[in-house]
Amino acid sequence: MAQKLPGKQPKQTDLVAENKALRARLAYLIEQAERNHEIMMRHQAFDLEIVGASTFPELIGTIFRTLPVISDLSAVTLSLIDEDSDIRTVMEKLGVNFADFPQLIFVPDVDALGFELNPRTPPKPELGMFDAQRHGAQFPSPEQRLQSAAIVPLLRNKRIIGSLNLGSVDPARFSPSLGTDFVEHMASIIAICLENVISNEMLKYIGLTDSLTGVYNRRYVDRRLIEEISRARRQEYPISFMYIDIDHFKRVNDTVGHQGGDDVLREIANRIKNELRLSDALARFGGEEFVVLLINADLESAAFVAERIRASIAASMIDLSGGVKVSITASVGVASLSQTAAGGAVEVQAQELIAHADEALYQAKDGGRNRVIRYAP
Ligand code: GH3
Ligand code: MG
Ligand code: MG
Repeated sequence: MAQKLPGKQPKQTDLVAENKALRARLAYLIEQAERNHEIMMRHQAFDLEIVGASTFPELIGTIFRTLPVISDLSAVTLSLIDEDSDIRTVMEKLGVNFADFPQLIFVPDVDALGFELNPRTPPKPELGMFDAQRHGAQFPSPEQRLQSAAIVPLLRNKRIIGSLNLGSVDPARFSPSLGTDFVEHMASIIAICLENVISNEMLKYIGLTDSLTGVYNRRYVDRRLIEEISRARRQEYPISFMYIDIDHFKRVNDTVGHQGGDDVLREIANRIKNELRLSDALARFGGEEFVVLLINADLESAAFVAERIRASIAASMIDLSGGVKVSITASVGVASLSQTAAGGAVEVQAQELIAHADEALYQAKDGGRNRVIRYAP
């Protein structure tokens, strides 16, 4: 039963007005809810996209391209802690061009991120007015004049790996009183993706390099050779291949021990590397054998480089620990892609190129070692 309300009954016109106001309020709330839903959907799509990124450039490219749009931000940058420049070095070796990502900032340690650190609790996002002194490092070259900023720690198992830096031209966008759940959630997903992709890239790198000398391994050269031969066929530039084998290395091991032999291999790798261009690829093919893939070099110029390598190995003794010195020589076989049968499968051509260099190397050994021989069909 309806209760009879005490006091004055509202007039009809008041009720109409109130109803109208409520309807307007409801329409506003629905609109807000729809807008929020849309924002959520966009962020969900963003989350899926970054979770699906399989390489470092793909991940940061997506973050820098998409996040400013879906979050309506003027600047999005990332600061990453890279203590010994390991991340940077490996990514560069894997071909990442950091000039493409000016929004990516490497810092040497956690202090450089500027958080107020408390040993008991992890840092919280810092929201506030843009301050050139506090935020200059995080936003080195903003396209617009920023008014407010959020510096959000990227945390993995309570360890800080960097910060996600968000800048807005709206002074009210990141006021210190705002809740930070949303940005923290976003940063946690970004942190997981970053850690994942970085360790994947590190594994990839380890899988393609030789742990003893740090140069590439056979798997890398086999793969790169296929790529380069395909490209060289299209663009018609010369490719050459060099097979380097240390002379009488068994004797070296016998006289200086296996450890000493390993040191010799490292020094030889350095001496070879010093004679090469950035575009050339040096790999240890196994044992005491090295190979070099020379891009844009014909047989003539490859033989010239090979002679320089041979000379630099033979030129001076190698210092080993304990004051021991050893004198080393190496033999080199050189071959060029133009000497292989054109037209067939790229894989066949690659095998043929390696076999030719190997054959030339055999002749160098046969001819007395410490020499360079060009493959002659
Ligand atoms: P040649 O002038 O004909 O090339 O003589 P060689 O003694 O170098 O001949 P061979 O290629 O048969 O011997 C290679 C030796 O290299 C055999 C092995 O003891 C040594 N070796 C292979 N891998 C390693 C390594 O990783 N470290 C060290 N220290 N020695 C290795
Ligand atoms: Mg040898
Ligand atoms: Mg050998």
